[in-house]
Amino acid sequence: MASSSFDQLNLIPPLAQAVRELGYEQPTPVQEQAIPLVLAGRDLMAGAQTGTGKTAAFALPILQRLAPQASASASPARHPVRALVLTPTRELAIQVEQSFKEYGKHLPLRSTVVYGGADMDAQIRELRRGVEVLVATPGRLLDHVQSKTVMLNQVSILTLDEADRMLDMGFLPDIRRIIALLPKERQNLLFSATFPDEIRGLVKSLLRNPAEVQIAARNAVAELVTHVVHPVAREKKRELLSYLVQTRNLQQVLVFCGTRIGANRLAHQLRKDRIHADAIHGDKSQAERLVALEGFKAGKSTVLVATDVASRGLDIEGLPQVINFDIPHSPEDYVHRIGRTGRAGLTGEAISLVAPPDMEALAAIERLIKKKIDRVLVPGFQPDGGTAATLMGREARSAPRRGDAPRAAEPRPMAPRPMAPRPMAPKPPRPQGDPIFSKPYEPSATSAAAAPKPEESSQQSKRRAPQLAALLGGLKRA
Ligand code: AMP
Repeated sequence: MASSSFDQLNLIPPLAQAVRELGYEQPTPVQEQAIPLVLAGRDLMAGAQTGTGKTAAFALPILQRLAPQASASASPARHPVRALVLTPTRELAIQVEQSFKEYGKHLPLRSTVVYGGADMDAQIRELRRGVEVLVATPGRLLDHVQSKTVMLNQVSILTLDEADRMLDMGFLPDIRRIIALLPKERQNLLFSATFPDEIRGLVKSLLRNPAEVQIAARNAVAELVTHVVHPVAREKKRELLSYLVQTRNLQQVLVFCGTRIGANRLAHQLRKDRIHADAIHGDKSQAERLVALEGFKAGKSTVLVATDVASRGLDIEGLPQVINFDIPHSPEDYVHRIGRTGRAGLTGEAISLVAPPDMEALAAIERLIKKKIDRVLVPGFQPDGGTAATLMGREARSAPRRGDAPRAAEPRPMAPRPMAPRPMAPKPPRPQGDPIFSKPYEPSATSAAAAPKPEESSQQSKRRAPQLAALLGGLKRA
């Protein structure tokens, strides 16, 4: 095997072998920087989003630190939970645990995953066998603590993955309760895509003299992603979406909706337009979510309509397009959403369908990413003059004629694209059915509807930012 810079990371042979078998040739930047720090026992605060290889950046050194205590004994007592990884969603929890299994396959270390919305009993059986690595969503972990089916008093490494999202989702009270159950002497790792200031400061109080690794610039978006805004009247959004998918012959598009009901309705309407579409959100059972995700990955559905929560951590290789059907209410969510595309050196496209009520949210996104996003009018879908003016934030003007030189961030008509062969039959007249599906899509007025419903039992609920200080500030270290 030719030497690779993984060699410089001094991974123990069972891990180096697993990495080779996975075909990884070079560590990614976050791995290069974080692995030595974690191996050295440092607390770590890492700015890296899904797609950067962040999971291996913590899983590999965690496994290496646990390796000396690995035991081939079958006795559960010889396999206490030593590394705890908390994630905001079930999907991410499952993916992270799978990674631990892959990287640790040549070590006698055990791992399992527990998350809400699934049967406790199977999880209890796994926990009873004894596991060194436990990946969990916070609420379900507390359920296990409550029923005394897990002991956390030997945890020596705590990882908070996608910490910003856990904070956003109101998981902090649960996290605080979990941390109180852990030994005070431990290593803490925190991975997060974005660091809104208050969270950055607060989280720091949890970590002990943390090393910092920042992969992309703070709140930066992947450079390989092209951003575009299509101004459109609100009631034409769904039609425009179908038009884009069909005329551009898009093959794999992740579409974001603000609400679960909106996601369901949109997927249903797209299917009526003969587009293979499925939805993934928190109201669906775990099994349904996995089926939808696998179908999308395997190319069975062209469009996967997702809410923010359901999409977190999704690792879909080479996803070419992300479409914001609803503009996210929190600008950080824009960064998260488009983190699904433009990954692993591939180019991606982030398309946002923007109606007048979305203007403020769009401006906040542009401030955050420090980039004015190009507006492109799609002939036939442009809003009327007055509305267009609102969308552009300037006086009414008619859409430029074809041939006008487009200027960046100016409204310009979509360049005629080579028309891909239309795979779909002409649109059938829209059948009258359940009014919930035929009614034009209406984004809810407040972000409350768009706010992710915590995926599981506990009291994360509404307690958000104001409690953060109390929480992390109140985490007294011994
Ligand atoms: P993550 O950011 O951890 O979700 O990882 C994103 C994807 O990158 C996963 O499919 C990993 O298997 C893959 N990956 C992680 N590290 C490497 C690497 N060093 N070389 C190639 N692929 C990697």
